Amino acid sequence: MNIPITRPYLDEREQELVADVIASGWVTQGPRVEEFEETFAAYVGAPHAVAVTSCTTALHLSLLALGIGPGDEVIIPSMTFIATANAILHAGATPVFVEVHPRTVNIDPQSVEDAITPRTKAIMPVHQIGMPAGMAALLDIGARHGLKIIEDAACAVGSEVDLGDGWEKVGRPRGDLACFSFHPRKLITTGEGGMLTCADEATATRLRRLRHHGMSVSDRTRHSSGRVVAEEYVEVAHNYRMTDLQAAMGLGQMEKLAGIVEARRRLAARYTEHLAEVEALTPPFEPAYARSNYQSYCVRLASDAPCSRDELMQKMLDRGISTRRGIMTIHREPAYADMCAHVELPITERASDETLLIPLYPQMTDDEQDAVIRALKDCAGRE
Ligand SMILES: *Cc1c(COP(=O)(O)O)cnc(C)c1O
Repeated sequence: MNIPITRPYLDEREQELVADVIASGWVTQGPRVEEFEETFAAYVGAPHAVAVTSCTTALHLSLLALGIGPGDEVIIPSMTFIATANAILHAGATPVFVEVHPRTVNIDPQSVEDAITPRTKAIMPVHQIGMPAGMAALLDIGARHGLKIIEDAACAVGSEVDLGDGWEKVGRPRGDLACFSFHPRKLITTGEGGMLTCADEATATRLRRLRHHGMSVSDRTRHSSGRVVAEEYVEVAHNYRMTDLQAAMGLGQMEKLAGIVEARRRLAARYTEHLAEVEALTPPFEPAYARSNYQSYCVRLASDAPCSRDELMQKMLDRGISTRRGIMTIHREPAYADMCAHVELPITERASDETLLIPLYPQMTDDEQDAVIRALKDCAGRE
């Protein structure tokens, strides 16, 4: 048996939609990108959605659009994918790493509050592997200190939060901007791709210009105009455009999204139920205000377990079952070593070192899942 960590959920529908784009003759940012943006905005409940090449570029543009740059500090957890911090450095600003809550592994509001300085301009909470961060506390801190909130929602399409008004999708604007990823490791994919959502129209307009070389008109407007249009380049910007090929794939994926979220939640609940018997393993913690999309299912191995985390991963691999280490820590990576020489985050380090991600994808059969559960019981169970 061979069980991968994940598998994209693509079929003839995406093939057909991409083939239509090729036949149309318009392959880069055009009508399909617009349609994908509208569909995505409607799904999360946002007034505006802006498509880009990745979540990394979405995060970069979000900082530029909010005027955050050299001399400014942005507070993030160290426990996240490295792109969160890279985007801050690309904007010329400084990432400030803080602790996570030991159970949710989401950014710890008290740690955020303690890290605020006169240079702090924004908080960038990460909805870890789909589990929504404690937005109520973070929005309150942001309001009290006049800080922008940029959500790294790379993994959180389909996740929900209840901030007192009932369940709503992550991406419905609460902070200033939310950024999503369509890398194949996330719930839906366009190969590579990203999306920003926001409430403010002027910000959306600026984002559209920043992704398109700072050009004053879109290719589509120019193409469909009956008159010669002279474009202007009003600021130095980037090429972060999504292609219509990718957007067509994204539209096919949006049709499947509700089913993908439902399947992942069902499988996650089944893991939690069966793994309750394995004393050395702690399942993910879902706070009352959060509904995860279970982009990944993360288990924590007790420090007195019969084997180490890495031994458990090897034993699983020997049985043909892929696992991955838990969420990385940025401050321990060589690229950040100099910058982070004095950073101490013991809760983060422990949480990262004691966790592993186990296979989960919507097509997973109960037989496949039972094999993973059996292997975990055999390898991590006590005699
Ligand atoms: C995947 C991921 C990113 C980067 O997304 P890309 O679309 O690959 O650029 C950023 N932040 C987090 C938390 C992620 O998981």
